[in-house]
Amino acid sequence: MYEATIQNKVYCHGVGLHSGNDIEMELLPASEGTGIVFIRGDLGDVRILASSDYLIPTHLSTTLGIGGVTVRTVEHLLAAISALDIRNIIIRLDGPEVPALDGSAAPFVSLLLEAGVVCQRKTRPYVEFLRPVGVSAMGKYITIHPSPTFDISYKIHFDHPVVSTQDYFYRHTSEAFIKEIAPARTFGFLKDIPLLQSQGHALGGSLENAIVIGDDNILNKEGLRFPDEFVRHKIVDLIGDISLLGMSIRGRIEAFCSGHMLHAELIREVLRDRKAWTTAYEEAPRFFSEENMPSFSPV
Ligand SMILES: [Zn+2]
Repeated sequence: MYEATIQNKVYCHGVGLHSGNDIEMELLPASEGTGIVFIRGDLGDVRILASSDYLIPTHLSTTLGIGGVTVRTVEHLLAAISALDIRNIIIRLDGPEVPALDGSAAPFVSLLLEAGVVCQRKTRPYVEFLRPVGVSAMGKYITIHPSPTFDISYKIHFDHPVVSTQDYFYRHTSEAFIKEIAPARTFGFLKDIPLLQSQGHALGGSLENAIVIGDDNILNKEGLRFPDEFVRHKIVDLIGDISLLGMSIRGRIEAFCSGHMLHAELIREVLRDRKAWTTAYEEAPRFFSEENMPSFSPV
């Protein structure tokens, strides 16, 4: 349980799912204690820390903002960063949104692994839950229960034959994330697109970066990556959103039809209910030498 960063800087570019802008993104190593920091290079290098303090809840994606400057659709990148246990990284963007790439977290995992993940010397705490904490709204809910491991049990129900009811149990490790969760793409319904676009959303959405669901089929010729890709993607979103707590979790999350708004409410409730959890550190060697310097290999 050490902090980690990336070894080298890496670049990518692509269209923003909602803004439709073509955006360049640079990922850079950062020293211990930096955290995950977005920089809007196009707006005089305004820095926005990936923390619940700067979370602006919206239904369609996760936005961080400070003083009117925002970065949108951060959740898939944050999921990849947190699943690889990276605590310190600079994300420099020349636009208002993280590129969508293929709509999943997999290209971000590849980019981070290409950059190399290196362990740092500072230990990082984890949150251990002492009693359940949860939030609910209109039949939807999300609760964290005490558990020695980080598990997610997610269930969705859409009144649509293609999605219908799906549930998935996930036990978190970097390897499990890479294999089971990261490739699952975001999805949307064809019938919703005109309204979303009239409101300035999904302007960069396409079959290249989202699963598009028609009346009784999906429009993507290549088909699904998993039969239950939809619920797996909800787990991508949750891992990205919950990472804004800033600490690893030991707990079992149970979610039913949750989304970005409820994830944000859960974070607020966890921070409010301070007696429901405690923080702890893994035991670490007191002094480092070449022999006991921790190494990290996510795959
Ligand atoms: Zn998503």
